[in-house]
Amino acid sequence: MPTEHGVGGSNPPGRVFKSGSVTGPNLFLGLFFYLEKKKIMAYFDESFDLDQFYMSEALKLAKAAKEQDEVPVGAVITHEGKIIARAHNQVETLKDPTAHAEMIAITQAASHLGNKWLNDCEMFVTIEPCSMCVGALVLARIKRVCFGAHDEKTGACGSVFNIAQSGILNHKIEITSGVLNRECAQIISGFFRSKR
Ligand SMILES: [Zn+2]
Repeated sequence: MPTEHGVGGSNPPGRVFKSGSVTGPNLFLGLFFYLEKKKIMAYFDESFDLDQFYMSEALKLAKAAKEQDEVPVGAVITHEGKIIARAHNQVETLKDPTAHAEMIAITQAASHLGNKWLNDCEMFVTIEPCSMCVGALVLARIKRVCFGAHDEKTGACGSVFNIAQSGILNHKIEITSGVLNRECAQIISGFFRSKR
């Protein structure tokens, strides 16, 4: 039905919204949403850190390991920003010395992608990986490993060995360290303290 307002003219006369005419409750509502948007933007701009977000997911897995009386280490692997593997240490449960969180996560990710190489993937793990795990991560050609606490006893991303960036091997892994360092160190040191 044609109307005097033409296209989009389904508004009844007298209720056509004009810019600059916002008053009363609309003004308060507008101000409220404006301030909320500012808060959300500030959250993303200043305090939202993706590495910290994925590390907090790995920490949840470390806590799950602790509940099963396993050494609390957790790992996630992301692909194009999406978590495709989540694992925690299961050495005691499986009676398997290779059942580190990283090893289980590598198997999950490769299986998920149907690819033995994880070139476009990143791992977030609560503690610096050992020589076995970094060896496997080099074989998987993972792009980056981000870890929380350094491991001065067995860490193979620079602390004891540097298998991650050895010039001898055919793949180097980008390393980011110290993400949520305090939380990651606390969960593991607390676990060993409780065992003494
Ligand atoms: Zn390991």
